[in-house]
Amino acid sequence: MRMSRYFLPTLKEDPSEAQIASHRLMLRAGMIRQSSAGIYSWLPLGLKVLSKVEDVVREEQDAAGAQELLMPTIQPAEIWQESGRYDDYGAEMLRIRDRHDRDMLFGPTNEEMITEIVRAHTRSYKDLPKLLYHIQWKFRDEVRPRFGIMRGREFLMKDSYSFDLTYEGARAAYNRMFVAYLRTFARMGLKAIPMAADTGPIGGDLSHEFIILAETGESEVFCHKDLLDLDVLGESVDYDSDLQPIVDRWTGMYAATDEKHDPEEAAKLGDRLLNARGIEVGHIFYFGTKYSKAMNAAVAGPDGEHVFPEMGSYGIGVSRLVGGLIEAFHDENGIVWPESIAPFGAGIINLKSGDVACDDVAADLYGKLKAMGRDPIYDDRDIRAGAKFADMDLIGIPWQIVVGPRGVKNDVVELKNRANGEREEISAESALARLTG
Ligand code: ATP
Ligand code: MG
Repeated sequence: MRMSRYFLPTLKEDPSEAQIASHRLMLRAGMIRQSSAGIYSWLPLGLKVLSKVEDVVREEQDAAGAQELLMPTIQPAEIWQESGRYDDYGAEMLRIRDRHDRDMLFGPTNEEMITEIVRAHTRSYKDLPKLLYHIQWKFRDEVRPRFGIMRGREFLMKDSYSFDLTYEGARAAYNRMFVAYLRTFARMGLKAIPMAADTGPIGGDLSHEFIILAETGESEVFCHKDLLDLDVLGESVDYDSDLQPIVDRWTGMYAATDEKHDPEEAAKLGDRLLNARGIEVGHIFYFGTKYSKAMNAAVAGPDGEHVFPEMGSYGIGVSRLVGGLIEAFHDENGIVWPESIAPFGAGIINLKSGDVACDDVAADLYGKLKAMGRDPIYDDRDIRAGAKFADMDLIGIPWQIVVGPRGVKNDVVELKNRANGEREEISAESALARLTG
């Protein structure tokens, strides 16, 4: 992408409405634009990052054996009346009436709809288990939308749903999602800690929230410090094997949100106790037959008897993760994207646009990086060098190649690492070689 053509409305000043780093930086980097309270447009740079997050989430869901489908945002009220949640859900649910006076709603979650779909197409125990997911916009009319897309009213969620014949089967599905979540967050460079949690309005009796530590997080959390040293990417995971040992390793140490906090248990940890704040980026639930019973979604068991599928649901806040990543990865100059999520794989700064020698070297690098699949962004604008440096740092491009007249004369460019600030003068070829693979 040539920056001269890119729609990248960056801001020099901190917007006054933003209280936390991620909100401030998303506005300054031209990633989002508020439409109304808690409702945002995703501008090109923001959408690119959102899609990267979505890709990692999708890859790990697929690897865990979940199958993607896509349910609509608008749902009929009937299925919620069947489950009994239409009245319970209260003011968070945006209720709509269509031209035929039918009650509709903008979905805040999809337990009812997926249960209706599976009910319609599943007759026998032989059709189970099923593990389905979608990545779709949700609407919750939050009392206090805040912190930009962190607590929005419209937000992107990945939600999976499992249907099993037995409790053991449902536990296996839960464990699969548990491990997939650990891998998903770890691949983004995040340390997400699973914490025993309340099940809230979803209901049920087994639940974990996945929380990343951040001073600005809305949840208070308590956990064993050694949890921070566990590494799931170092494990080889076979989703067809028993995952309980991995789950046990991650749940064997104390970790709870304030709702489930047990001060006596926690006190036993002594100085290994961490009391911090965190951001909930995922939440998984096992809730048994709550919805399958309420919605009469029985299948015929081996002896023809009615069996209500054992269910679970598993959410990831895809759009919230973009904010969470920025909270975890930023400095005084802007965002510092981990490479797996960066909107562009490399940035080229031409210090003297219009200078034939500089333009040639920069354009050549740009073409080659594109051919390598590095998806570069090239700052070819005719503005001050300082402004180019500032924007490239602000939008957090992990590798930056600076092309200037002095360097070009000596056949070198400067390769800069955004994360540690290290700069090296090397030939353009060496810079390209460094960015290969
Ligand atoms: P919270 O406790 O933060 O309100 P929740 O328990 O209502 O979240 P779930 O129903 O478990 O959320 O939804 C799954 C995930 O969706 C959450 O873990 C969170 O990451 C994300 N999420 C929930 N509400 C919002 C929101 N208003 N804006 C952005 N993301 C959200
Ligand atoms: Mg929750």
